[in-house]
This record gives sequence, C-alpha cells and structure tokens, in this order.
Amino acid sequence: MRFITYNAKNFREIEYIRYLPPDTRREIDVVSRVIPFKTNNYVVDYLIDWENYADDPIYILNFPNRRMLTENQYGRVEHAMSGDYSDQEIIAVINQVRLEMNPHPAKQQSNIPVLDGEKLAGAQHKYRDVILFFPSQGQTCHAHCTFCFRWPQFVKDLDLKFSMREIDRVIEYIRRNGEIREILFTGGDPMVMSPAELSRYVDAILAAKIPHLRNIRFGSKSLAYWPFTFLSEFNEEAEDMLGILRRIVENGMHVSFMAHFNHPNELETTVVRRAVAAIRASGVEIRTQSPILNNINAGADIWAGMWQTQVELGMIPYYMFVERETGPYQYFSLPLARVYEMFTEAVRESGSFAKTVTGPVMSAAQGKVQIMGIVRNPATAERYFMMQYVRHRDYLRTFRPFFTEYKEDATWIDQLQEIPAESQIETRGTPVARER
Ligand SMILES: *Cc1c(COP(=O)(O)O)cnc(C)c1O
Ligand code: SF4
Repeated sequence: MRFITYNAKNFREIEYIRYLPPDTRREIDVVSRVIPFKTNNYVVDYLIDWENYADDPIYILNFPNRRMLTENQYGRVEHAMSGDYSDQEIIAVINQVRLEMNPHPAKQQSNIPVLDGEKLAGAQHKYRDVILFFPSQGQTCHAHCTFCFRWPQFVKDLDLKFSMREIDRVIEYIRRNGEIREILFTGGDPMVMSPAELSRYVDAILAAKIPHLRNIRFGSKSLAYWPFTFLSEFNEEAEDMLGILRRIVENGMHVSFMAHFNHPNELETTVVRRAVAAIRASGVEIRTQSPILNNINAGADIWAGMWQTQVELGMIPYYMFVERETGPYQYFSLPLARVYEMFTEAVRESGSFAKTVTGPVMSAAQGKVQIMGIVRNPATAERYFMMQYVRHRDYLRTFRPFFTEYKEDATWIDQLQEIPAESQIETRGTPVARER
C-alpha cells in the first residue's frame, strides 16, 4: 500500500474534494495557513464518510474549517491572502494569529534532563519513574489532528540532527538514575520511523542492559492513521517492525503500545483490527488514550462504544484527557462539569472492563490532575470539584484528594481556586480534605 500525503498544496487531488462547495475548499485554503493540514489516503478512503463530511468526526479531525478560528482571525487571514500583501506580510499575519492561540501551553522546559552539565534536548524527565524520549525522525505524524498544536512546535524547536550519540547520552542518564523504570518513545509519532531507524534506538537500549529499565512504551496514532505499518501483505517492512517489538519482549521487557484513538469509527476497518491482532501477537499490550473533544467525540455513548470495541479487540482503556488550552481550543473544548458527567456515564455504560481508564485528566504544569467528582456541602449548598493528582512532579503529592471551587463553565484547572484545607474542615461534614 502506497502512502499518499494530502496537504494544503495538493488536497484538491482528493477525488471527493470536487463534491465540496467552493466555499468549503476556500476555507481549507485559509485555515490551513494557520493550523497545519495533513491527511492521507487511508484516512480519506477508509475512515471519512464523504456523504456527511461536514459532521463526520474524522473529517473534522483532519480537515481545517473556519470555526476553528475566531471570525476576526479568519477575516484577517483571508484579507491578507486576497489583498495585495507580500508573502512576508501574509506570514506576519499568520504568525500573529498563531501567537494568539497559546502555542506553548504548560511549559515543559523545566523537565529537560541534564547530564554532566549538558541538556538532553530530546528527552523529558518529569515523573521519577518514566523518561520521555523524542526520536528526531518521529517528530511528525501520518496525518495531523486539527486539535493538536504540538508537532509544528516540536519540528521547529528540535534539533533534527538528534544523533546516536544523544541516545547514548539518554541511556547513560537512565543508567545513573535508578528510579527510572520506563522509557516512553513519543513525538509526533515514533511509528512513522522506518524499522531501520527505530531499531537503532531500540537496539541501543537493549544492548545497554540496564537492570532497572523494565518497560518500553510507544505513544502512537499509527493504528488509526496508517495500520498498514503492521500488516506484511500491504507493507514489506511490517515484519521488521513487528520483529522489533518481539525482540524487546524476548529481552524480558514489558512493551506497551499507547494507541491514540479519538472515535469508534477508527476501529471499524478490517485492516485496523488485523493490525491490533498483529501487535498483540508480538507480545505487546495495547493501551488506549484520547482527549475528549467537542465536535468529534463529545458524547458518553461515543466513549462507551469506543471502549467496548477496544476491550473486545484486546486493548486496555487507559486515559481520557481534557483538551488542552492551545490551538483552536474554543472549538474543541468542553466545560469540566460536562466532561466529568460524560466520563462517568460512559464508564457506567461500559460495565466491567472500561474501569481501567483514568479520567478525566488534565495535563497541567505540576502533573496530571484527575477530576474525581462534583460534591455538594449540605450545610451551605455550595458545590466543589474534588480532584487529585494521579501524576505529580513530586510523587508524594499524588493520590491526595483536594477541592476547588465549582464553576459550571470552567474548562481548565487554572480557572478554579483551590479551597484551602483548613476552610474545608470548617464546613461541618463534607467536603473535608484528607490530611496531607
Ligand atoms: C503523561 C506523561 C507521562 C506518562 O504518565 P503515565 O501516568 O505513566 O501514563 C510521562 N511523562 C510526561 C511528561 C507526561 O506528560
Ligand atoms: S497524532 Fe498526536 S502528535 Fe500527531 S497530530 Fe495527532 S495529537 Fe498531535
């Protein structure tokens, strides 16, 4: 199967595009100047229902539309493109709009590990037991999710000459930090790498034989965007890719494939199901995660359906995230109160096996915060969110419930005041914070 990329330059070659109204095609031209646009022939031919493209979740997941910008932003970009602006002036307008979209949420700078005074730019060490690794060839994806503002930054900021010497430095860092039990390959998508590229990293790790490094994780959307990666009858490199996974397992490490699925429609094709089976047959666990997104998967029934199918296919639901405040989040974000309701309803609907999911979770500066509940103090009728960190840069601060004020429209934790523990105890009965 040949991989064909469609982007802002060539999307008119997609057969179905002819059937879209000219206005819609123009919108793609305008919005894709701000939000990077990339899709491929699998997504276009297998996943999108072109008869109902405007409401199709996978169409919205890949194709920019004008509601992803404010009217004002859309107007400025369109004006710049249709007037007699120079290329440079157009770029200045686009950059200005991007800056308005909070391109650097929850700064990760302070998580960069340091070895012998040298920063390891391709890694992040925030939680003591796990180190993130960003292989340079994995800093792109098979398609671009419209809600993700992440990878253009990665591509721009990373030194793309990230070399074998640097994986050696990361390995040395792990060797000296006995608390690191896991390396997580992420991106972008590490599964866009060829088996030859990936195996150079993996084999270096295996050869190092670090006794405390027990787990390898790959964060990837390739099952949803290009399942042929793992199917040998469509792809001559698939056997090598699966061979890498088997080799890690044979070396006694646990391998977890963190599959990013946003919608149950991504689980319906025969090829994705066979790819899931092929990965599992290599001895790897597949765990799943996704943000909850307005206009794509905002519904308890959607999540219940997604989790049920995942479980039936042998995958383990792991995280439901809240959409970060970056990029076109006014289009995708949802109030925390609604998110919490949908989460609980979806888990309840799913019965036994979706209880493995942790959610809803916000990836904030200090760590991953889970919304545990909305509680009411019977004495004052005041409502609160109950939350806990399931991950904190200081691990001793995980799994301690705390309360914040309740706001119906709040979409992120920084819009909420934490209730000091003392005043919670004063409120006679609930809510009462656990002692630290
Ligand atoms: C989410 C995340 C991890 C992995 O956390 P888990 O709870 O183990 O899934 C590791 N490092 C960073 C920086 C993260 O954001
Ligand atoms: S697959 Fe992940 S990193 Fe890639 S565009 Fe989508 S959300 Fe972003």
